[in-house]
Amino acid sequence: MTSTVNPLHSTEQFMKFIEGTFVVTNDELKVNNITRHHVTRAYHEQITTGSYYDQLKRIVEPSVEEFESPGSLDTSGEYDNTVMPGLQHKYAQTALLLVTDRCASYCRYCFRKRIVGKDSDEAAPDFAQVARYIGGHIEITNVLLSGGDPFVLSTIKLNRILDYLLPIRHLESIRFGTKMIAFAPNRFEDSALPALFQRIHEAGKTAVIVTHFDHVGEISIDAERKVRSLRAQGVQFLNQSVLLAKVNDDPEILAATFAKCHQIGVRPYYLFQARPVKGASHFQVSLRRGLEITRGINQRLSGIQKTFKYIMSHYTGKIEILDLGDDDRVYMRYHQNKALGKVGKIFSRPHVEAACWLDDLPEG
Ligand code: SF4
Repeated sequence: MTSTVNPLHSTEQFMKFIEGTFVVTNDELKVNNITRHHVTRAYHEQITTGSYYDQLKRIVEPSVEEFESPGSLDTSGEYDNTVMPGLQHKYAQTALLLVTDRCASYCRYCFRKRIVGKDSDEAAPDFAQVARYIGGHIEITNVLLSGGDPFVLSTIKLNRILDYLLPIRHLESIRFGTKMIAFAPNRFEDSALPALFQRIHEAGKTAVIVTHFDHVGEISIDAERKVRSLRAQGVQFLNQSVLLAKVNDDPEILAATFAKCHQIGVRPYYLFQARPVKGASHFQVSLRRGLEITRGINQRLSGIQKTFKYIMSHYTGKIEILDLGDDDRVYMRYHQNKALGKVGKIFSRPHVEAACWLDDLPEG
């Protein structure tokens, strides 16, 4: 990466970063796994006209810090839990389907950098084969459509996916993981969508949308309207946020985000510890700071608003981060684990200053 003013070679391009405009080569972008830069007009307007631009720009605008952030491209063992292209089965009850590699805008902290915005062969399920697998696993009660963002697909395509899933009797819910309500709320004006949710209900299943609001400044009036309208159609809402340095690492902001979610009928569900992702680990905050923030959020919310868990989505399972004890140990509990016997078990590790991930804490 250079700030040269010489004529550009064919593989070079100017790229705008938070820190300024630099010349980068295609190879540099590829080697460093720099996610493509694309932001919807609605989201751009939302963040530039509100009072949080300095924080929210970090969600979607590239930073030179991405070149220096070490980490892995598969922090949660997605590859090892892939049972066929596009289908992951890590936890007994849940099948995770990668239905697209595209999103409406691209988050700089995304843990699926290896897939999103690219032509990935990880997001190409053969739905007939997927349905056969799920049909043969009666322990699977819910399917999560993810990617990428399932709502970049047309409603016709989503209906085609449902053609395969809805006949499976043991499926109780169809879940959509999406940031589209923040990025492009007008996607939910599609007049064909109510019938899609109606189909899910008529098949005796629950339609769940997991929104992805990281910051109260992302919840536009339009987003709020769409959530209320979809709730009136019987869709249940949960929200997941990622704890992000310089974006929302502030108990005041996160408490306001969760209170707003609660107010519009979206249940705060997960606050994720940011993962050590290559190109995105600069978003991580230490476990000590994360626990301070979590405590601060809980002090600001009423009992019915504090429905979230502070979670590390680790290779070994989903770990709830509980506290840093007086004995200087970090206390945690498996919220999800492949081994059912471990679910709910509290365990601890010696604390290490600046640790951000389970692997930073020694065993013993
Ligand atoms: S919307 Fe989700 S999948 Fe897409 S870039 Fe953002 S975090 Fe990643």
